[in-house]
Amino acid sequence: MKTIKELTRKCIDSLQPYSSARNEYSGKTARVFLDANENPYNDPINRYPDPLQCELKNQVAAIKGVRPSQVFFGNGSDEAIDLMYRIFCNPGRDNAVAMEPSYGMYGVSADINDVEYRRILTDSAFQPDIDAMLAAVDENTKLMFFCSPNNPSGNLIERSRLIRALDSFQGITIIDEAYIDFAGTESMTALLDSYPNLVVLQTFSKAWGMAGIRLGMAFASEEIIGLMNKVKYPYNINCLTQQAALEQLQQRDRMKKWVSQIIEERAGMAAAIAELPVCLHVFPSDANFILVRVTDASAIYNYLTDNGIIVRNRSRIALCGNSLRITVGTPQENAELLESLAEYCRI
Ligand SMILES: *Cc1c(COP(=O)(O)O)cnc(C)c1O
Repeated sequence: MKTIKELTRKCIDSLQPYSSARNEYSGKTARVFLDANENPYNDPINRYPDPLQCELKNQVAAIKGVRPSQVFFGNGSDEAIDLMYRIFCNPGRDNAVAMEPSYGMYGVSADINDVEYRRILTDSAFQPDIDAMLAAVDENTKLMFFCSPNNPSGNLIERSRLIRALDSFQGITIIDEAYIDFAGTESMTALLDSYPNLVVLQTFSKAWGMAGIRLGMAFASEEIIGLMNKVKYPYNINCLTQQAALEQLQQRDRMKKWVSQIIEERAGMAAAIAELPVCLHVFPSDANFILVRVTDASAIYNYLTDNGIIVRNRSRIALCGNSLRITVGTPQENAELLESLAEYCRI
C-alpha cells in the first residue's frame, strides 16, 4: 500500500495553510474578542464560526461510532469530492477510476480539476466490475469512486466487492454512502481503522432532511482528515448551518421515523409501479428513490411534467435507457404520481 504522503500532491504536502483568528485562539475563557475584525454588534452571527466545527464533530462522531478526528464537514458532499481531487490529483497528469453509471459530480469535479475520469461499466445489476476497475488503474491513478447505495440505480454494492477494491487498490478509495440510512446495512465507516486510504461520504441532505443547509460529511483516517482541513476554506461551514445541524441531531427520533416511512412507501410504490403496463422493470432499491425502466421514458416524463409532477429522466445515462428515477415522497405525493401514471396508461 502506498502511504497517504506518497499519494498527496507535493504542493499540498508542503502547504502552509492559512491560519485564521479562530484557529489561533480557540479557547473558551476569553471575554473580549478583538482579534478578528468582526463587528461587535448583531450577535450571534457577527462572529466567525468555529472553523473545525468541534461541537458538531463530537456529536456526529458519537452517533457514527468514529473519533471526532475522523470527521470532516463540507459545504455538501460535493466539497469533499472536490477536495479529493485537489489534494491527491495533479491536474493534467493523474486520473480517477469510477463505477459507471454513478453520481455525476465525481466526473464533473474531475473535469473542473483537469483530471482524467475513467468510467468502468457495472454489470446489468449495477454491481461494479472490480477486475475491470483494477485493470484500468495505472501509476497515475489516485482515486477510485464507488457509490453505495448507488445513484441512479438505488442498489447497495456487494460488500465483498468493496473489500476487494480496498485490499487491491493502492490509492484512495471513496465510498459514497449518501443513501446508507435507507439501506439497513452497516456503514463502511466500521472499516476506517483497517484501511487508512478509505474515505466514506455521507450527508445531511437525504435521511436528515436538510439539503437546504448544505452539510456533507466525510469519514477517514486522521491523516486524510488533516489534509482536508488544511486545504478547505477556513470557515467553510457557516454558523447557521452548524446551529441547524446541532438542533436536528437532538431530534434523531424524527429522522428515524421519516426513514421508516420512506422505506415503507418505497415498497408500496415499487409494487404499484411494477403493475403498470408501461413498466418494463423496477430496479431493486436500497435508497429513497426507485429507478424504473419504462416503454417510453420521454413521453412519460413529459406527461408527468405537464401534470406538475417532476421525476428525473435518466435515459441518457449508461445502462439506464428508458429509465426514470423517482424519489419517494409523502404518501400523498406518491399517490398523485401513481394516479398520474395510471392515467397515462389509460390514454
Ligand atoms: C444526493 C447525493 C449526495 C449529497 O450531496 P450533497 O452535496 O451533500 O447534498 C452525495 N452523493 C450522492 C450519490 C447523492 O446522490
